[in-house]
Amino acid sequence: MAHIRPIILARSSCSHCGFVFPSFQAESEEQCPRCGNAGTKMLWPDASALKLFEMTLTFAERANGMVSDARQQLASDAKELLGKDFDGELLVSAALEAQAIYNQATEEDRWTDALFDRILRAIQTRLSLESLDQARMLWGLLGAFSETTEDGQVTVILACTFLERLLGDVLTVLGITSGLTYSQAERRMEKCQSIDQRKAFFHDMTRLHVTMDNAFQSLGYGAFWSDWNTIRKRRNDFVHGLPWAIGEETTRLAVKTSKQAVPALAQLQNTYCIR
Ligand SMILES: [Zn+2]
Repeated sequence: MAHIRPIILARSSCSHCGFVFPSFQAESEEQCPRCGNAGTKMLWPDASALKLFEMTLTFAERANGMVSDARQQLASDAKELLGKDFDGELLVSAALEAQAIYNQATEEDRWTDALFDRILRAIQTRLSLESLDQARMLWGLLGAFSETTEDGQVTVILACTFLERLLGDVLTVLGITSGLTYSQAERRMEKCQSIDQRKAFFHDMTRLHVTMDNAFQSLGYGAFWSDWNTIRKRRNDFVHGLPWAIGEETTRLAVKTSKQAVPALAQLQNTYCIR
C-alpha cells in the first residue's frame, strides 16, 4: 500500500468565514480566496487529526503484512500435512467456503455427520483432493484459519475516530458560522456524540435544513457516506461483542474512506457551513 504523507492533506481554514482552501502556510500573507480576510488561518485538519490519519495508514500496512503471513502459514501447514503444494488463494477460498457452510447451519445441524460430510466434500472439490480423508486432515487447519487481525481491527477503529473527529470539527464551524460562540459550539458538540444527534445538529443548523444524507449525495460523495456508514456499523458490532465483525474487507474500506475524508468534508464545510 502506497503511503500518503498526511501533510499533503492539510489545508487552511479561514477563521473569519470558515472557508477551507488548499494552502497551509500559516505564516503567508495570503488572503482567504472567498472573503478576502487576511487574518488568522487555521490548519485543517489540525495536527492531531492528521496524526490519526497517519496512524490509520500505519496499522493498515501492518494488517496487510499480517494477512499475507497468515496465508503463507496456511500454505506451509497444508504442505506439511499432506506432502504436496497448494495454491494459497485456493486454500483460503476452501477455508472460507467450509466456514460459511458451518456458520450458515442451524445449531442442531452443527452436531450432525451430514453437515460435516458436506463440509469435507466442499473442501475435497475445491482443492481437487484424492480422498475425503485428506479433506478431513485439512479441516482442522481450514476451520481455524482467520484473516481478521488485531491490526486490521485497530485500523478500522482509528479510521472511525479520524472520520468522527473531522465531522465534529466541521459541525463546530457550522455552529460558529450559524451564530454560536466558539465555546457554545464546542459544548453543543460534546453533547452530540452519536451519529443521529450529529445528523440532527447538521439539519437544524444549516440554513436550508439539509439532511446529511442529501448533502453528501448532492456533493457526489454518496458512496463515501455509505462506505462510512458500513464501517461505523462494523466497528459498533465489533465493540458490542462480535469479534469477527471486522474482516479484511472492512479494513480495506476503512482505508479507502479515510483517504477520501478530507476532500469530502472540506466540500461539506465549503458548501453548507460557511458564514
Ligand atoms: Zn474567508
